[in-house]
Amino acid sequence: AKEQGRNMYQVYGDFMDERTYQSFLMEKQLRKAILNGEFIIYYQPRVNALTGEIISAEALIRWEHPQLGLISPGEFIPLAEESGLIIQIGKWVKRKVCEQLNEWRVERIPLIPISVNVSSQRFLQRDFSNDIKVLLNEFQLEGKWLEIEITENSIMKNEEYIYECLRELKKMGIRIFIDDFGTGYSSFNYLKTFKLDGIKIDRSFIQNISTESDNAGITIAMIKMAQHLKMDVIAEGVETEAELSFLLEQDCQFVQGFYFGRPCPMEEFEEKYMYSRQE
Ligand code: C2E
Ligand code: CA
Ligand code: CA
Ligand code: CA
Repeated sequence: AKEQGRNMYQVYGDFMDERTYQSFLMEKQLRKAILNGEFIIYYQPRVNALTGEIISAEALIRWEHPQLGLISPGEFIPLAEESGLIIQIGKWVKRKVCEQLNEWRVERIPLIPISVNVSSQRFLQRDFSNDIKVLLNEFQLEGKWLEIEITENSIMKNEEYIYECLRELKKMGIRIFIDDFGTGYSSFNYLKTFKLDGIKIDRSFIQNISTESDNAGITIAMIKMAQHLKMDVIAEGVETEAELSFLLEQDCQFVQGFYFGRPCPMEEFEEKYMYSRQE
């Protein structure tokens, strides 16, 4: 494959720079990965730190590359978005998550909601909510088991369509969270327009929260605002005891981060978090 790659570079070298060529190669491999089923989903727990209970899980995709091993989404999601392949990948993730929920149900394991990340590209396509409806129907799943994370740029434009779409999702019982809250082109206007279920405070604010007063101030403000709007808050990227105690002092008890558990394959997730729960 390397040999072939070099030939290709000669062919394309005239009008492609190295970077473009690299993404050209990766896009090709990404297409193959979709066909060959080289993706796997890791799951990360979210915990109510007051009770120690697991409240939900986030589905996070990984690429098991036959030669390169496990590749994290940060390395291929941007290209997947650029090339449009994110649509197929996202479809696979949502189906996989529904299959998992269904499996728990068959095995009589009490369900927890699983949240999926939805690219703004997909979210802004007209048939998004309908696709979800069809999927839930196929698995006979209630919408409350599937949560959706979108970023601020997905709903910045106060369009009639987004309003409709969110309303449809809500009707199905699906909860919607704003991911990476505070890092986008923030405007608080949309919070007034759309009734969203919660925000996820970005990891960059949680880091060193007990020693960095800027982060602390912003985080406190975000928590207060969400409380007033009756939205849930999940703090992302909680790594230390100190970060956790700070959050608990601010009445933010829904947390996700390495302190509680790293994303892991489902077998491990079940061992660690699912089998020990009581009905
Ligand atoms: P995200 O949605 O913000 O996901 C959280 C990321 O933070 C995950 O990285 C997770 O492993 C990491 N993380 C969680 N807790 C901690 C912590 O305590 N410390 C640190 N340092 N990191 C923590 P991951 O899995 O590499 O995913 C990166 C991004 O890729 C995600 O960020 C999300 O934007 C995107 N992504 C992942 N899966 C999907 C997917 O199925 N579809 C789409 N569209 N995007 C996805
Ligand atoms: Ca299982
Ligand atoms: Ca997320
Ligand atoms: Ca995030």
